[in-house]
Amino acid sequence: MTAAIYAADAGLSVRLIEKGMYGGQMTTTDRIENYPGFKEIAGWELSQRMFECVTASGVSLTSDNVLSLERSGTNYKVICQKETYEANAVIIANGVARRKLDIPGEKEFAGRGVSYCAVCDGNFFRGRDVAVIGGGNSALEDAAYLGGICNRVFLIHRRDEFRADEKYVRAINSFDNIERVTSHVPVRIVGNETLTGIEVRDLKTDSVRTIPVSGVFAATGLISDNNAFAGIVNVTDEGYIVSDENCVTSAPGVFAAGDTRQKKLRQIVTACADGASAAKRALEYLNGV
Ligand SMILES: Cc1cc2nc3c(=O)[nH]c(=O)nc-3n(C[C@H](O)[C@H](O)[C@H](O)COP(=O)(O)OP(=O)(O)OC[C@H]3O[C@@H](n4cnc5c(N)ncnc54)[C@H](O)[C@@H]3O)c2cc1C
Repeated sequence: MTAAIYAADAGLSVRLIEKGMYGGQMTTTDRIENYPGFKEIAGWELSQRMFECVTASGVSLTSDNVLSLERSGTNYKVICQKETYEANAVIIANGVARRKLDIPGEKEFAGRGVSYCAVCDGNFFRGRDVAVIGGGNSALEDAAYLGGICNRVFLIHRRDEFRADEKYVRAINSFDNIERVTSHVPVRIVGNETLTGIEVRDLKTDSVRTIPVSGVFAATGLISDNNAFAGIVNVTDEGYIVSDENCVTSAPGVFAAGDTRQKKLRQIVTACADGASAAKRALEYLNGV
């Protein structure tokens, strides 16, 4: 939405193609506490406010699913489920999906104790006990982040060893409030009105126990789906679009903004920043700069 606003305000003719809800992942969270200008705001409300700016800027809105992108001379064909559109430049801002745990209780407590983003929601669990599920770089990074603000962090991982870089292992080792619960898998999230714990199964003994926690952070990975664009732009092994800090990709006239691109911090503020940069570079590209 930010890319569309900046591009339209710069005088370009902009079509915003969205297959779901304007606001994307934002719409799935109750509280956002780290978007400057708002002490706290609901995800749907921030989405709505951004959407009002999109319509005020005169962006054309299209509800459709982008299936692929093809070169057409110096232009691009954006092939959607219902129609095909031609564009002089394309900004890809299709985001990511968060991998779910797929265990009982997850849906019921999503946004009420179950979180997929430690940087977003960690502050709600300040001084409390939480669990982090996963054993890769993001899980260990999340555990270290939460170790700094929570009372105790249980790091639950199905293998004996973490599959994270050494620097993340060193980081969690420096916290004495992070407890490793290796060779365990989550079985069920428990609670009544509020989340009270997580049931885990020991893969070596098959025994099940409940760890009392107020929050569960799933850090089992993000799913980036850029198959539709892989033939046009370079993507990483994990499926993120490779771009520079101005959101310029390997294909002339194609830019990538937000969570979909290879980057360190996936947040609303960084997605918006990318949107603005991508639109600016798209304008320069179209002006032959
Ligand atoms: C539960 C939760 C809580 C969060 N809390 C915070 C928080 O407190 N603070 C914070 O800064 N960040 C938070 N985040 C992260 C933040 O929401 C994301 O970093 C941000 O939304 C990324 O924006 P984006 O536009 O890059 O991608 P997305 O928000 O993922 O939006 C991508 C959009 O593209 C659409 N799309 C995808 N594929 C296609 C296609 N083929 N055709 C057409 N449309 C398509 C999707 O429907 C979606 O609307 C949270 C995320 C989640 C899941």
